[in-house]
Amino acid sequence: MTSILRVALPVPLHTVFDYREGDTPAAVGSRVRVPFGRRERVGIVAARVAASELDEERLKPIGAVIDTAPLLDGELLATLRWAARYYQHPLGEVLFGAIPTRLRSVRALPEPGIAAFALAAGGRAALADPARRHAPRIDALLAALAGGPRSAAQLTALAGAAARRSALSRGWIEPVRLTGAPATAGGTPGPALNPAQRDAAAAVIAARGFGAFLLDGVTGSGKTEVYLEIIRDCLARDRQALVLVPEIALTPQTLRRFRERLGVDVAALHSGLGEGERERAWLAAARGEAPVVLGTRSAIWVPLARPGLIVVDEEHDTSYKQHEGFRYHARDVAVVRAKALDVPVVLGSATPSLESLANVAAARYRSLRLDHRAGLAQPPALRVVDLRHQRLQHGLAAPTLDAIASCVARGEQVLVFKNRRGYAPVLICHDCGWSAHCPDCERALTLHRADARLRCHHCGFEQRVPSACPACGGLALNALGEGTERLEEVLKSRFEGVPVVRVDRDTTRGRRLRDALLDSLPGAGARILVGTQMLAKGHDLPHLTLVVVVGVDEGLYSIDFRASERLGQLIVQVAGRAGRAERPGTVILQTHAPDHPLLGVLLDGGYRALAQRLLQERRDASLPPFAQFALLRAEAKDKLALERFLVSATQAAACAGIRAHGPLAAPMPRRAGADRAQVLLESADRSTLQAFLPGWLDALRALPDERRLRWSIDVDPVDLY
Ligand code: ADP
Ligand code: ZN
Ligand code: ZN
Repeated sequence: MTSILRVALPVPLHTVFDYREGDTPAAVGSRVRVPFGRRERVGIVAARVAASELDEERLKPIGAVIDTAPLLDGELLATLRWAARYYQHPLGEVLFGAIPTRLRSVRALPEPGIAAFALAAGGRAALADPARRHAPRIDALLAALAGGPRSAAQLTALAGAAARRSALSRGWIEPVRLTGAPATAGGTPGPALNPAQRDAAAAVIAARGFGAFLLDGVTGSGKTEVYLEIIRDCLARDRQALVLVPEIALTPQTLRRFRERLGVDVAALHSGLGEGERERAWLAAARGEAPVVLGTRSAIWVPLARPGLIVVDEEHDTSYKQHEGFRYHARDVAVVRAKALDVPVVLGSATPSLESLANVAAARYRSLRLDHRAGLAQPPALRVVDLRHQRLQHGLAAPTLDAIASCVARGEQVLVFKNRRGYAPVLICHDCGWSAHCPDCERALTLHRADARLRCHHCGFEQRVPSACPACGGLALNALGEGTERLEEVLKSRFEGVPVVRVDRDTTRGRRLRDALLDSLPGAGARILVGTQMLAKGHDLPHLTLVVVVGVDEGLYSIDFRASERLGQLIVQVAGRAGRAERPGTVILQTHAPDHPLLGVLLDGGYRALAQRLLQERRDASLPPFAQFALLRAEAKDKLALERFLVSATQAAACAGIRAHGPLAAPMPRRAGADRAQVLLESADRSTLQAFLPGWLDALRALPDERRLRWSIDVDPVDLY
């Protein structure tokens, strides 16, 4: 009897393909070459089955078997399968998305082991010779190697790449390959944990098997120290730890801190890596050579040979949700994986998501709280500046400017936060009222003064700034409103002699520029930082004592049901950048709505009070996390086809336990030249929705208009765009 293999291919089709097994057996989870259409493709064996629904005589045989051992197996393969079903995404794309690009081919796996160095004979002589004097870094390097080989990354962390190269060129050290986890270099000790930190760490350490914890600690309360403590315990048990962070490129400090403090190799996995680096880190994790893996969203799919712990830092961050293609949520997957692996998972945040707080209330997660800042730091004081009747200087009120002036006069630093890059969000003609709009999205174009361009932040359209009004020929073109570029200009001219540093996507293009800019941030001396969301995350800026949130009103009046939660998180996170060292911090919130109830709750009771209130509102309105959503988004150049498709989709959703709202205009009804609309599915429970979706989506794929549009399904959408 022949064996039949079900093979997943990287194609956007909701099906797997059956082949006959050849002479070489292929394990489930390994790569194989299979004939597909007119050519051969690389696939991954998804299952071995007893019988095919197709005529078995006509099944084609597998071509070559690429891997002798599976690339994806056990828990990871099972979780990937689950995720493909749960998020309704083709299995082939899900499996191929989980392996590094280089391995999505016939490429054989590279040799195991990691690049390392050992002391050579010359180095031993150099160490032993009392008369020789070396640079301190070289001494440190040789002394470390006297205890055995060390990985290249460890040596770089210890003594710098220059010392390593110099020792190599003198023949004092030699390259070797290390297999298995490298010896630890000890790591540098941190502050003694305070009682709250100790209790939190002890609770996780005591868990051993699966347990979900929400580490709910105010900014600067020492959550990272708790992570380091539980990771140390995990390493002591010879297990690997997987740590997810929202962003690595912007916070190189985090990676450095983990490497130095733990004294082991920390494999980084993020989108800024080259393909080679990515493949090496992935394999090091899979082979158990990397004791700690620190990565962004997609690192949740890394295989771990000896899993022991998963940490998700800033768990509320929306970057954990993939916004296109396979729309998974890495935080949610982390909990699913931890359960399957039977290891603890720790979700940390100063501003936990309402989902996680609801899970605590339902006793699914255990809450660990750090209510005070660690060390000497005090919580920042929040202050509202009422913008009504104030004369504004490009968006900044007089009391705000006074506060900035006295802060820089004291030699301290200010962060001016505005979540909009560019010079001004609108360019308008004072004579006739014409304004610059994107021809493809019908949204205002943002003015970028530095290079005299008008740009659409939604689709990438851009053009030169016209010198005269295209409608009336007048010359009175005015920039309305302000983005970070304009704030930078205003602050530079107002505070002459004080360095003003702007951090947004425009000033951080390119790795070198970005790293240099970010490295310069924590330095001492009076300085004004102007930035977007980028500066709200994780940076430790010890000399920062004043934070100005230029506009909070956009968030107060948004139609998105998550807007208030986001605004609260954003304010608290930006505020958390202030006063992290001994000097206390102040946060100014500029608003036209000083009496808005949400601001009142936030000011009086902090994020916790706001979150409790928002949870109650969500419960009353049956919104997530008290209801389950799936969003069908569609766009088309053919408006009628779009309408017909979504009307049929809504009708097809007539089913007990499911409510379909639609067709609804998308929050951006036009983008990049296409009309956009959507249908929102709602259900009181997850299993009803999950049971309903596959059949519904099959029905949609059979609709006649299906080929005239682009559409997607988003299970547990985090925004309704
Ligand atoms: P979080 O991750 O909660 O924002 P961190 O772990 O980065 O906080 O800690 C904030 C600051 O407080 C850091 O500078 C850290 O070194 C310091 N810190 C943390 N725990 C302690 C402690 N137990 N004693 C003294 N300082 C501490
Ligand atoms: Zn005009
Ligand atoms: Zn556009």
